[in-house]
Amino acid sequence: MLKDNYDAVVKKIADACERAGRNPEEITLIAVSKTKPLSDIEELIGHGVKEFGENKVQELTSKYEEVSCKVNWHLIGHLQTNKVKYIVDKACLIHSVDSLKLAKEIDKEAAKKSVICDILVQVNVANEDTKFGLELEDTAKLVEDISKLPNVRIKGLMTIAPFVDNPEDNRGYFSQLKQLSLDIKSKNIDNVDMSILSMGMTNDYEVAIEEGATMVRVGTGIFGERNYNI
Ligand SMILES: *Cc1c(COP(=O)(O)O)cnc(C)c1O
Repeated sequence: MLKDNYDAVVKKIADACERAGRNPEEITLIAVSKTKPLSDIEELIGHGVKEFGENKVQELTSKYEEVSCKVNWHLIGHLQTNKVKYIVDKACLIHSVDSLKLAKEIDKEAAKKSVICDILVQVNVANEDTKFGLELEDTAKLVEDISKLPNVRIKGLMTIAPFVDNPEDNRGYFSQLKQLSLDIKSKNIDNVDMSILSMGMTNDYEVAIEEGATMVRVGTGIFGERNYNI
């Protein structure tokens, strides 16, 4: 069942790539397993899925310990500085860095564990009060500041677009983030590469891919609706 859902998403990704003249190999599909049981994750692992996303540190670290084989865990939710130490050597990529203070804490904890931590800078493209992330115009400056930290490596940008009925309403936000990543890339900042653009969720990943996403984070479309009350 989950396997069929997953394959249907892969097919839609391929179709979106076709429309946009892109190679599907450029796109990483992250299965967002938050609130979902280990058995669901194991089912997908059995199907060859390797990229999983969680939005809470505690949930990521416990699933990290429990799964039967090594997979890649993406931290996609807001990260508090006091939780950084639990996650720096477990997440393959932290998608949600939105302050120098947080980046410095990641740098410090990564140095203690002798790892380099890959991160994305989260941008609040639509400027929603309810969302974390930087404003577009503050992003390049933060990227430059973070680039000086030796144990952190910036791989690109991430955004969470507004929840809308019609995904077309988010197209402009996705293209703005793509443009911002090109602008930052053209500055050739040391220790910064802009190869990853993490944007698009169940409702809007096809539009995001048409606008340049290289990572899409799909939960509901693979695992079904979430129940937060259990
Ligand atoms: C939950 C979540 C997703 C997945 O959302 P769906 O709409 O279920 O696909 C993607 N990104 C982030 C940051 C999330 O918290």
